[in-house]
Amino acid sequence: MSAERLAELIVSSGPVVALTGAGISVPSGIPDFRTPGKGIWENVDPMEVAHISVWRRDPERFWSFYGQRFALLDGKQPNGAHFALVELERRGLLSGVITQNIDGLHAAAGTSDPIEVHGSIRTASCLSCGASFSLAETRARGDVPRCDCGSVLKPDVVLFGELLPEDAMARASSLASSAGLMLAIGSSLEVWPVAQLPADTLEAGGQLALVTMGPTPYDSEAVVKLSGDVEEELRAVVAALPAA
Ligand code: ZN
Repeated sequence: MSAERLAELIVSSGPVVALTGAGISVPSGIPDFRTPGKGIWENVDPMEVAHISVWRRDPERFWSFYGQRFALLDGKQPNGAHFALVELERRGLLSGVITQNIDGLHAAAGTSDPIEVHGSIRTASCLSCGASFSLAETRARGDVPRCDCGSVLKPDVVLFGELLPEDAMARASSLASSAGLMLAIGSSLEVWPVAQLPADTLEAGGQLALVTMGPTPYDSEAVVKLSGDVEEELRAVVAALPAA
C-alpha cells in the first residue's frame, strides 16, 4: 500500500533526488559501522582510528584498519535497492543520487554520476605529488601502501576530522533544493552536514519520503515512510510504477 503511494509520488513529483546511506548496502553484505558489535568494528572505534590524524601520525595503525575495511568491501555487489534507483533513472524519474556510502556500489550498479559526498574507496591518492591509484593498485602496494615518491597513500574517502568535499556538497545542496521529492534511503539522517539536505528540500517546497528502518529526525515531516527491508521495499515501489 505504502509502496504504491510512494510510486505515485515519484511519478507525480517534480525532480526526484535520492539520498542514500549505509542501509542501502546492508543487503549487499556490508555492515553499517554505526551498528555496534559487528565484525571488525567490535574491537575498534572507527571514528577514532579512521581519523586523518591517525593517518598522519600512525599510518601502520590506520592502514591495518583500512586494509580490513577494503577486504570487507572486496567483491561486494550492488543489490536490488541499488538497481531500483538505476531503473528509476532509466525511466527518467530520478534526477540524481547523493550517497554517504564509500563502497562505490551505486556506480557499479549503473547509476550515472552519483554524488559521493564522503568519497569512495575506488581510488587512493598521494597528497605529496597528486598521483592517483585504483583500489587494486593500492592493495597491491602492501600493508602500508606508498606512492612511487615514497609518501603513504590516503584512500579518497572523507576521513573523520576532514571536511566534506566542497564541490560535491555544493552539487548535493543544489539538487536537494531543486527536488520536488527527496527520497531518503537507508540513512538515519543524523550525520551532518548531509542531515541538512532533507531540510533544504522541505524549505524549498519539496516533499520528503523515507525508506529506512529505525527513526530519523524527519519522520514527522515525511509524506511516506517505508520501514521494511530496503531491497524489498524499493522492488515493490518499482513494481508499482505504471508500465514503462
Ligand atoms: Zn607521490
